[in-house]
Amino acid sequence: MFFLRQKIGYFLVVIMLFVVLGACQPVPTEQSQSTTATPVAAQTPATTTSSIPVAYPDRALSASPAQLPKLPYDYNALEKAIDAETMKLHHDRHHATYVDNLNDALKKYPDLQKRSVESLLRNMEGLPEDIRTTVRNNGGGHLNHTIFWQIMAPNGGGQPTGEIATEINKTFGSFEGFRKQFNEAGSDRFGSGWVWLVRNPQDQLQITNTPNQDSPIMEGLYPIMGNDVWEHAYYLRYRNSRADYLNNWWNVVNWTEVNRRAQASLQQKT
Ligand code: MN
Repeated sequence: MFFLRQKIGYFLVVIMLFVVLGACQPVPTEQSQSTTATPVAAQTPATTTSSIPVAYPDRALSASPAQLPKLPYDYNALEKAIDAETMKLHHDRHHATYVDNLNDALKKYPDLQKRSVESLLRNMEGLPEDIRTTVRNNGGGHLNHTIFWQIMAPNGGGQPTGEIATEINKTFGSFEGFRKQFNEAGSDRFGSGWVWLVRNPQDQLQITNTPNQDSPIMEGLYPIMGNDVWEHAYYLRYRNSRADYLNNWWNVVNWTEVNRRAQASLQQKT
């Protein structure tokens, strides 16, 4: 009798479990189906500015797949400002990781691989939510570093030359004034990020900084030159002194490339 009652007891428990589990199942609604099934291709594929190259003066960054660009000089070529070990770690490890993470995130979405990294970053809201932050951080990291390597050179430094010299004087009063404001904006960025010289939609030069790996293009600004103020960019030589790094960095600025980018940022808008 006892065993029979126990069996009935178990039976009731099992029945109740089924009832409870059944009640917990989400009722499929029109809305939940449509959010999970939103086809990526149906998102606005591009804004009117998405064809503007940013990574290079004449071309945007491919995402099919994203590739780590070669450094345009040796690891020890920028010793005037950055030591070889930092350059090697920064390029081969940090930048490479951004590229790998971006490719991993886009594997699930072949349609997105057909777009440029710049186009993805300009349309963050249109990206699937599950990869949005990954694309923002790693697509941004890939783009920012691709620009960074180009706007430095072993024979860089000194006074700016060409059109950008005139524009800097006109906008900031003098090169010294510009350098001071740029360094201050780099120091002011709390935590990790970048300091930039950008062109705004009114075609003016402007100094700005961004957190993490955010790109100025996410705010409609064209990055002409930028300095990386993440600790990984300077800690081996400069330790905690970001200000010393910011000061010394001007010894490797590639004014030829900065000029090219400044001109590209104007031409692309016409
Ligand atoms: Mn970096």
